[in-house]
Amino acid sequence: MDYLAGLNPSQRAAVEQTEGPVMIVAGAGSGKTRVITYRVAHLVRRGVDPFNILVLTFTNKAAKEMRERIMRVVGDEAKNIWMGTFHSVFAKILRVEAEHIGYPRNFTIYDTDDSKSLIRSILKEMQLDDKLYNASFVYNRISSAKNNLISAQEYSRNEQIQAEDFSNGRGQLGQIYLTYTQRCYKAGAMDFDDLLFKTNVLFREYPDVLHKYQHKFKYLMVDEYQDTNFSQYLIVRKLAAINENICVVGDDAQSIYAFRGANIQNILNFEKDYPDLKVFKLEQNYRSTQNIVNAANSIIANNKNQLKKNVFSENETGEKIKVCRAFSDNEEGKIVAEAIAQERALNGGKYRDFAILYRTNAQSRAMEEALRKINIPYKIYGGTSFYQRKEIKDLIAYFRLTFNPNDEEAIKRVINYPRRGIGDTTVDRILIAADQHQVTLWDVISQASTYLDGRSAGPVGIFATMIQGFQVVAKGHSAFDAAMHIAQHSGILKNLYEDKSVEGLSRYENIQELLNGIKEFSEREDIEEKGLDVFMQDVALLTNDDNDKDPNADTVSLMTIHSSKGLEFPHVFIVGLEENLFPSQLSLNSRSELEEERRLFYVAVTRAEKKLTLSYATSRYRWGTLNNCEPSRFLDELNPAYLELDFKPRTVPESTASFADERQAWGQRDVFTKPKPKVPPKTTAILPKAHTPTPGFTPSDTSNLQVGMEVEHERFGFGKVINLEGSKNEIKATIFFRELGQKQLLLKFAKLRIV
Ligand code: ATP
Ligand code: MG
Repeated sequence: MDYLAGLNPSQRAAVEQTEGPVMIVAGAGSGKTRVITYRVAHLVRRGVDPFNILVLTFTNKAAKEMRERIMRVVGDEAKNIWMGTFHSVFAKILRVEAEHIGYPRNFTIYDTDDSKSLIRSILKEMQLDDKLYNASFVYNRISSAKNNLISAQEYSRNEQIQAEDFSNGRGQLGQIYLTYTQRCYKAGAMDFDDLLFKTNVLFREYPDVLHKYQHKFKYLMVDEYQDTNFSQYLIVRKLAAINENICVVGDDAQSIYAFRGANIQNILNFEKDYPDLKVFKLEQNYRSTQNIVNAANSIIANNKNQLKKNVFSENETGEKIKVCRAFSDNEEGKIVAEAIAQERALNGGKYRDFAILYRTNAQSRAMEEALRKINIPYKIYGGTSFYQRKEIKDLIAYFRLTFNPNDEEAIKRVINYPRRGIGDTTVDRILIAADQHQVTLWDVISQASTYLDGRSAGPVGIFATMIQGFQVVAKGHSAFDAAMHIAQHSGILKNLYEDKSVEGLSRYENIQELLNGIKEFSEREDIEEKGLDVFMQDVALLTNDDNDKDPNADTVSLMTIHSSKGLEFPHVFIVGLEENLFPSQLSLNSRSELEEERRLFYVAVTRAEKKLTLSYATSRYRWGTLNNCEPSRFLDELNPAYLELDFKPRTVPESTASFADERQAWGQRDVFTKPKPKVPPKTTAILPKAHTPTPGFTPSDTSNLQVGMEVEHERFGFGKVINLEGSKNEIKATIFFRELGQKQLLLKFAKLRIV
């Protein structure tokens, strides 16, 4: 069988053009990813060694799917292709080469939480105002410097940057960046952006290393090229410099990561970088109905800044795009859930054919509640990763320390968990001693009696002996045996086992789950090295979606639009199409930001194959207050020819009919003591009255609110406090309401009566 038969002539031409630089800039659903997949299969078929092929995808999941498809054409050889996200591929290369740039091979990868925690420590040490220098803000600033390959030294030396920081009152950013870099280095840790930044440093400082990889990767392919940043761009450009067999595919209309430093200049520059470039056009969309493709075109036409493209579909015209209006986010959830149930009842189909896409993660709550109510199975993609849970991070911190005992964030996390009498002051003393004596953190910890005073030295010494014990066990045992030993001897298992609360139980189960995963890893036959160190290598890069136990489970998919990139579903719901939510409030300041939101909408719309439903609510709780919402401007921008409004006009005509006769017949027991006000109060008018407050309802002072207390909310009714988090003015209470289920409320806004 001709394995290239499933391609149209331009796709096929792009696949067969294996030599030299190739670029495809084409609209959504036109087969760009398909071209890369077939191209790799074609290369292997033609005798290229899979080890010489590098494919960079946007998610690990995309790489996995692509590999499976290629496997069907070329068999097991596909396993040897280098394929993955930029971060995972270059982390793997850095593991081999780290020593050149002064890092241990078993360096730790700091995730965003670790990085922010380190920043917080630094801010505290420098006694800086944590409002002006908010940790997330500082993190983003450092991240974007790194993605533009601006080192800490360069940042501090650059007059323009310094002038800007000073004029914003944030003159210390350069110093924070310097300290942050030194502390990561000392801890033997790299953050996410370092994986790319340090690869660039490696390639710049060590031409022989670069040369090795230039020869190794004879063929390079990059999917979603529009979303690469400068750091990624330069890596690709350097790697391809000798063979120039590079193929990039992308769509400028789907560039949605400018806020993270992605720059579509990469697409525009490609032609300049490679004068011999062959450009292929793909114009036919194979994914969606004509209505969906045409509607998508009508949206993107509103962007000034774009490359002109022709996109058409020869699929059926299809149904019009439905627009639904709800009076609240909960009702919106109900509309969506019922539409899914109805579609399945009428036309069959699987749950996995449906996706619900939203702008912000917070919107999933209303959707989940509604789906659960009518027993529709669902899965949230890209939410908090399993590996981000506290108990998992705690155990993993012990693993991290076993292989890299200098890891500052891991030390802070577990040196006193479970409790062993080592307080924050001792941790500070360890850091200071390491600094004063110019030794590593582990030098201080493992020789506690030399560097610390007697009182702290004792417990720290015991801790060091324990970690040394773990190091010995990890060397001679399988990943699972080592992990089990550490879980037991660190005291974590016992600590969680003793916590008999519901949360404690689920934390214990999560640890079991992690250990099961490690057991599976230990038993895999396709890898040779099965030590815990190998298991640990990429853990920081894993996301929720990689932990997908049963990828074929029949569930509705819930995700943000950002994580839906590249995917497709027969039925798509885009919810929350309201001004200030989508487009996001933060994007309304400039044309370029608004255009990015519009591209995001274009991405969302083009995920749909057969049927697309858009919805908005006229009121929604945000940050604890109920807001009236206006429909999104994006709804107005869609060509109405492709739309069908699924709601009645706004004003319901007043009914003139009277039930006076019936009432009289019923015995005149008129229950209405007060006539209803003509103009109902603004906020409650549009919501169903879920609860009638107890007469004389007055909110209590909630400063002493405790978990377990019973409360009454003016509208949500009675409930029990199940969690409190945050401090001072920002305390968030999670309350389980008898009627409505779980809700999280900001205490300063929520009017609660303690019962
Ligand atoms: P996006 O921009 O959203 O990432 P894309 O350009 O990468 O889209 P693909 O995902 O490769 O597009 O293709 C979209 C859909 O069309 C897929 O289901 C793919 O299998 C199908 N498709 C693409 N080309 C053809 C073809 N020549 N014949 C049949 N189906 C095709
Ligand atoms: Mg694609």
